Amino acid sequence: MADYYELLGVSKSATEDEIKKAYRKLARELHPDTNGGDAVAVERFKEVTIAYETLRDSEKRRQYDMFGDSAARGQGSGDFFSPNFGDIFENIFGQAFNGGFGDGGGQRSARHGEDMETSVTLKFEEAVFGTKKEVSVRLPVTCKTCAGSGSKPGTTPSVCKTCGGSGQVRRFAQTLLGRMMTTSTCDTCYGEGKIITTPCSDCRGEGRKTEERSYLIEIQPGIEDGSTLRLTGKGPAGPRGGYPGNLYVHVSVEASDVFRRVGQDLHAQLGISISQAALGTKLEFESLDEMIEVSIPPGTQSGKVLRFRGKGVPNFGGRGRGDLLIELMVMTPKDLMEEEINLYTRLAEIRGEKISEPHEHGLFSKIKSAFR
Ligand SMILES: [Zn+2]
Ligand SMILES: [Zn+2]
Repeated sequence: MADYYELLGVSKSATEDEIKKAYRKLARELHPDTNGGDAVAVERFKEVTIAYETLRDSEKRRQYDMFGDSAARGQGSGDFFSPNFGDIFENIFGQAFNGGFGDGGGQRSARHGEDMETSVTLKFEEAVFGTKKEVSVRLPVTCKTCAGSGSKPGTTPSVCKTCGGSGQVRRFAQTLLGRMMTTSTCDTCYGEGKIITTPCSDCRGEGRKTEERSYLIEIQPGIEDGSTLRLTGKGPAGPRGGYPGNLYVHVSVEASDVFRRVGQDLHAQLGISISQAALGTKLEFESLDEMIEVSIPPGTQSGKVLRFRGKGVPNFGGRGRGDLLIELMVMTPKDLMEEEINLYTRLAEIRGEKISEPHEHGLFSKIKSAFR
């Protein structure tokens, strides 16, 4: 691990206050809530926290200054932090979530709204080219009567006696780091610091009511069947003004009669006749958004795949498109007319191909036998 002072960006002579300030600033920057749980940031957050937990304690800091990293971890215990790191971390996270870092937070409830799920079904083309979809959900929203406070308008909640209004309960715990003060959310008031005496009659003190909400969501081109979209903060409101949860929208895509999607590529089949396959031709193929000219070379075999670059599905959230792959299927004619039978027979003769005797052809044999 890097030098603890460097990690926190302070000098070796930094005061306790400077260390604390530096840590708070970094913790805000690196907190998973700020950067969406980015793994690198979480890792740095851990390092910075270890550095802070050492330097904030004058005895451990003295040891660290003299002997460095390993000495500060004490004697005999291989990984000094592992047994208690979870506790420390939870504690720090808990505070952070409650707006415990310095100025952040305000008077928000400690309780977040739950996450919620819903689903939307798209037509095949809508998924390929993107669309706007309205999703409607019934979910708890902030009560307008009490503005989410849960208190009947005109009344004030009383201060929580357990925590004295701070929403936090502090206790000392013996850890491998030494005697440490830990802070946890007050169980009586759930971190709100106050108790509602006269509940809002509209929401019964919950601060939220269930209502129907519609969101118009923008679906990016190229979305895949089975994707999930996250609408941050569009989920249920937290109780008593708490932060709202997220709304997750599961996306399913209807199948197409013509196209099959494989990643960003579109697969389709095109039937051609024996003559077209043998002699070659140019055909028009109606793709999702344009007509494609398909050149069939002479001597084309059934099952041949032609690739049309950039005519497939747009890359989700990016540039470019996949390819369109058209598989050529040679269609053998059925129910031949007499003239056709003659021509095919003649063709077989020229090529020296063995074919069924004329009497084996349905209609043809009947006509022949009638004239016999
Ligand atoms: Zn209310
Ligand atoms: Zn309390």
